[in-house]
Amino acid sequence: MQIYLEEKIVIPLPKDHGKTALIYKDTEISYAELIEGTKAYARYLDILPGERVVICAENRPEWVYALYGIWQRGGIAVPVDFMSSPKELEYILRETEPTFVVCSNKTEESVHQALSSLDLKTFVLNLDRVVPPNPVEKVMSRSFKDTALILYTSGTTGEPKGVMLSFKNIISNLHGVERLKVASKEDSTIALLPFHHSYPLVVSLLLPLYLGATVVFLEKLSSEALMETLRKHSITILIGVPRLYQVLHQRLKERIEKNPLGRLLFSLGGVMGRRTRRLLFKKVHKAFGGKLRYMVSGGAKLPLETAKFFDRLGFVVLEGYGLTETSPIVSFNPPQKVKLGSVGLPIEGVEVKIAEDGEILVKGPNVMQGYYKKEEETKKAFKGGWLLTGDLGYLDEEGYLYITGRKKELIVLAGGKNVNPEELEAEFLKESPVVKEVGVLEMDGMLYALIHPDFEKAKELKLLNLEEYIRWEVVDKVNRRLPPWKRVVGFKISPQELPKTRLGKLRRFLLPQL
Ligand code: ATP
Repeated sequence: MQIYLEEKIVIPLPKDHGKTALIYKDTEISYAELIEGTKAYARYLDILPGERVVICAENRPEWVYALYGIWQRGGIAVPVDFMSSPKELEYILRETEPTFVVCSNKTEESVHQALSSLDLKTFVLNLDRVVPPNPVEKVMSRSFKDTALILYTSGTTGEPKGVMLSFKNIISNLHGVERLKVASKEDSTIALLPFHHSYPLVVSLLLPLYLGATVVFLEKLSSEALMETLRKHSITILIGVPRLYQVLHQRLKERIEKNPLGRLLFSLGGVMGRRTRRLLFKKVHKAFGGKLRYMVSGGAKLPLETAKFFDRLGFVVLEGYGLTETSPIVSFNPPQKVKLGSVGLPIEGVEVKIAEDGEILVKGPNVMQGYYKKEEETKKAFKGGWLLTGDLGYLDEEGYLYITGRKKELIVLAGGKNVNPEELEAEFLKESPVVKEVGVLEMDGMLYALIHPDFEKAKELKLLNLEEYIRWEVVDKVNRRLPPWKRVVGFKISPQELPKTRLGKLRRFLLPQL
């Protein structure tokens, strides 16, 4: 892949090669049109190199034009969640002091509300209005060392921090994945998660565009809309989070179990080669559009049963691992040798080391420049030049990485024993389909489970007393398999969903309030 420096965009878009770049609401946008779009925004956004521009809008083509337009003008893009409250926005606006906020009809009010309590000279540009034509073309030269993005972490553990990523950081990640030969310009992917988060932004938007592939926007996040889009646009790579795969797993599993032939084929799948499995489950593959080569998962742990389930149906599941601070990919399963349950091998240029206490440490060109305006926090994030990921894991003899939990989430019990809440949660989820979400927490040195049931499922199973069912068929059964110190002493049913980030990760620090 060539880098067109004459375009002065340090994260390059390929020249028009006759392929569609974006598909949005059935409108196809070519690479030539995409490049024109970015230029219109670059002409309009009158900024100096290094100035910040916040993008607060839902995924849409203009979002992409604005991003590349900001880069062409030498600016730093700060994508934020379009569902942010005015208060959350205010925090980011105060910290980044942007020259522009790019918004949409959906977010304009919140943006104005957030700005009203700040003393900033910020211009607001609404993507729903036509960008006034501006003939002045000022493309600024940028260096790979310049900051391209400030991405706020999703805040599963506390106050959001703005991760500064340089062009080099991001390009190194794009190169790393390119080397794995997972995708090429022949591919079509779906962008289904909001772009303010590093994983969807880099993996489902920047990467396919960098390779010259097609990105189809999913308008509504539902499994029906997803399946329809997979079929309609012959999607070849699905880039999702574990929650999505878990929902699809649950639905398909029920369908297969209801059908005696399905059950038989599924049991046979274990001893067949992948090609035969694909043939056995031809109908399922057809429902997924028939062209799907890879199911990519990242952002959180993919339950092994879910990975195995899709593998048995003949799909190729590729799990990767990363964090905003690493642009985001650290490791990825090479399609030639996938290990289910592992998050793969470190991508080219990235080094991974396990500290004595099991923490995963990372070094490489993808590691962030630091946290914006947070020197102390930045210092704390590194040790001897290695990024402290806060995640726990191990490497196998072939260098494949396995994630076992998060250091900051480990529960230290009175006797000094450590409990990994994620591991326990997986046990509860495995036990019964009635357990839709679960969070394990510690109070006064004891473990409790907060369970959000699948009420529909409970109805279907005609459970007369849900609480008794959970007590005896779930909690008691799980406890009996665990050593005494790992058992929960009580549980509570939460009628509402547990607090999660937009990518579906548990916001653990909010659990005690429920
Ligand atoms: P905050 O830093 O504010 O707590 P966050 O941890 O959700 O938010 P992100 O950068 O969004 O920050 O997510 C990175 C984290 O996601 C990793 O540190 C890791 O815990 C988790 N993660 C990502 N991929 C995987 C995976 N494949 N398996 C297990 N965990 C994963």
